[in-house]
Amino acid sequence: MAKKGKREIGEEYLKNLRPSKLDEYIGQEKVVENLKITIRAAKERGEPLDHILFHGPPGLGKTTLAYCIANEMGADIVASSGPTLERPADLVGILTNLKKGDVLFIDEIHRLPRIVEEFLYPALEDYRITILLDKGPHARSLNINIERFTLIGATTRIGLLTAPLRERFGIFHHLDFYPDSELIEIIKRSARILGVDIDGGGAEVIAGRSRGTPRIANRLLKRVRDYAQVKHDGGITGEIALDALKMTGIDELGLDGLDRQYLEVIIENYKGGPVGINAIGATLNEEVDTLIDVIEPYMLKTGLIGRTSRGRVALEPAYRHLGITPPRDIEKQLSLLDMDEEEKD
Ligand code: ADP
Repeated sequence: MAKKGKREIGEEYLKNLRPSKLDEYIGQEKVVENLKITIRAAKERGEPLDHILFHGPPGLGKTTLAYCIANEMGADIVASSGPTLERPADLVGILTNLKKGDVLFIDEIHRLPRIVEEFLYPALEDYRITILLDKGPHARSLNINIERFTLIGATTRIGLLTAPLRERFGIFHHLDFYPDSELIEIIKRSARILGVDIDGGGAEVIAGRSRGTPRIANRLLKRVRDYAQVKHDGGITGEIALDALKMTGIDELGLDGLDRQYLEVIIENYKGGPVGINAIGATLNEEVDTLIDVIEPYMLKTGLIGRTSRGRVALEPAYRHLGITPPRDIEKQLSLLDMDEEEKD
């Protein structure tokens, strides 16, 4: 019996919510349209694709696109990530095994150690790697040719990429948050795959609290599904979704406990800012990277906070959202904002 249970759990996980073809990919229309042209042109010429860099907040579909591209090219894909590639040796096996046109996907590519990054340069440009056979004055090196592959990099922090690495990509695409209408489509598609009944109202409630992010939409859908199954007959309506999400502590804007604490720290501990990100991290006892990558992008996008040369400021909607009266001179915060939204951290 135990075995059967295990297999059932396994099957549940196999219900993959990730689209595998560009035609199944919802939203990001411009990016998808451009990619289709790039892929078609490369295929017609019988050439591998140029190296591609996707940037944008987590959970928006960068990894998914990499898999779709490999699929469309009929190529194999090897997935890795910046922090796990610690030494050049970690890449030798991967690179020498790639066939012509295969895709090497490196997530969080901004976290690639410098020594690995430098090892990668000739692989990207000349499809060649150099291996040191010895150490010291008599060190010998060996050049190995590798097949023409395509690197697809993904990053949440394009500002942290070094110029030489950035220059080796031929194609750049930025992924932005999804409007609710697209999230509704994604939620309906996922519900179909999971075999859950959901009405328009249910999908709308979940979409509205997903912070423009498909990964969050899928996660909330699964939580609401549990609630609907245990407390009701399994179907998801707007009302059921609202009740379920209330229990998980996610508010109307999709903010959870940590998001609200972050806003409270700026407003209450630092009088609305400007306050440096390190000070916020220290007060919250939270990793600064998590704040920058996960918490802030949606708040910046929706105007809850702003970035200035001296740190973060809370904007009027943040006060209103927390039920705190904004200071009379709140408008002043707007004049401090940086116009340039590129990463500076
Ligand atoms: P990222 O690499 O940007 O962090 P992922 O590609 O891992 O994001 O996407 C997170 C999840 O969201 C995926 O498992 C996938 O199911 C879902 N997803 C992302 N983009 C889409 C999309 N455009 N259409 C449908 N589902 C999507």
